Amino acid sequence: MAKRFSVDEYADGILAGNRVRLSQAITLVESTLPTDQQLAQQVLDRVLPYSGRSVRVGITGVPGVGKSTFIEALGLALLAQNKRLAVLAVDPTSQRSGGSILGDKTRMNVLAAQQQAYIRPSPAGRSLGGVTRSTREALILCEAAGHDVIFVETVGVGQSETAVHGMVDFFLLLMLAGAGDELQGIKKGIMEMADAVTITKADGQNELAAKLARREYQNALHLFPLAQSGWNPVVTTSSAVTGAGVAEVWQVVEKYVQQTQESGYFQRRRQEQNLHWLHEAVRQGLEEQFYARAAVQQQLPTLRQQVLEGSKSAFGAAAELLNL
Ligand code: GDP
Repeated sequence: MAKRFSVDEYADGILAGNRVRLSQAITLVESTLPTDQQLAQQVLDRVLPYSGRSVRVGITGVPGVGKSTFIEALGLALLAQNKRLAVLAVDPTSQRSGGSILGDKTRMNVLAAQQQAYIRPSPAGRSLGGVTRSTREALILCEAAGHDVIFVETVGVGQSETAVHGMVDFFLLLMLAGAGDELQGIKKGIMEMADAVTITKADGQNELAAKLARREYQNALHLFPLAQSGWNPVVTTSSAVTGAGVAEVWQVVEKYVQQTQESGYFQRRRQEQNLHWLHEAVRQGLEEQFYARAAVQQQLPTLRQQVLEGSKSAFGAAAELLNL
């Protein structure tokens, strides 16, 4: 087991912007050991007052759409504006593939080499619930370390988008033009969460198709009911290769932040997210405690078997377990 430090050593290091200590603290929040979890919570409590001052942006899109290339291009532009950027990932599939996003060391290597950028791959070998929880905690640690922009990247194919949407201020969807039926590639639910869509790879022969797709998506998004934020989702085109349209995406984010801060929605949404995470943490904690109980572990295999055979209903079996 790696060396552990005191609460003060973690907290002071993070607040001083020490990247090594930040990484070590994130390792701690990712750990499933009860002693690590306890220490992690104390560190989080210490740094929490210094968190919250970033813009949190979720970025999603199917593999190959150009997420890492885009994040690198936009990230470098943000660093040029003297911002400090952290890139986190939520990818529960990485437990199978050994890291399908951000795991590959060749991705974003220019960005990763910058002092003002911090890139952290998705924790491996955890459930979606575990990954989202530790990513949310890592986000707080990164903010306390002085990162004023946080990207949370996820693969646009499953449940993780909803989880990421629940921890960010702004949700950006990357889409490809001309990839078959334009609106089928990604689930409608993910489209509905998007505050902005950017059609990627709008360069060379693909430029015209990207512009057409932009119009199609803009029309499609108009059909969705207006979001609670009062924000109308924006569709743009961009090329991470030529750089065209990349900075514009950030202008959209800034406009959103300004508008929702003025309306009060920005702060309200963060409060709601915090409450959601409170209940989520309670639910997860209860579930873990429940399954850790000896009586439950003893009875569970028999009851599972009975439910499989149909000799007992799922609800009856659950009631028996809960009554133990
Ligand atoms: P990810 O899987 O979504 O992270 O996608 P990548 O960023 O790895 O990009 C997938 C492929 O698309 C790579 O071969 C990139 O070189 C290429 N690509 C990414 N962005 C652009 C772009 O703006 N223009 C062009 N022409 N190709 C791009």
